[in-house]
Amino acid sequence: MKTTVIDHIGIAVNSIEESLKFWEGTLGVKCAGVETVEDQKVKTAFLPIKESELELLEATSPESPVAKFIEKKGEGIHHVAIRVDNLEEALSELKKKGVKLIDETPRKGAGGAMIAFLHPKATGGILLELSQR
Ligand code: ZN
Repeated sequence: MKTTVIDHIGIAVNSIEESLKFWEGTLGVKCAGVETVEDQKVKTAFLPIKESELELLEATSPESPVAKFIEKKGEGIHHVAIRVDNLEEALSELKKKGVKLIDETPRKGAGGAMIAFLHPKATGGILLELSQR
């Protein structure tokens, strides 16, 4: 598997609008766009920093995985995403190695990327996303 860069860090927030007061207003990290990913019931704001970005995640429904995360743990780092050259290949390699996956096949993520999540039980407690752009 070829990993290239930390693609993004996903941060669960109660309100993107509120969070941007800090990230944009205080730190000066500009928001490059907001997108809703319907099947994840989440609104996403992208804040690029060089080749990587921060991804602010706001739930659009109480059933959203992000809403459940905040309920349990509060706002904070939700997942880390690593960019790979070939996601299909990476997933079949991980399957062969017996790594527990949440997504067995790539699916559409925000920003036109193809993504797949690994299970936190396989990664030492981190929700890890692989992303191909
Ligand atoms: Zn992500």
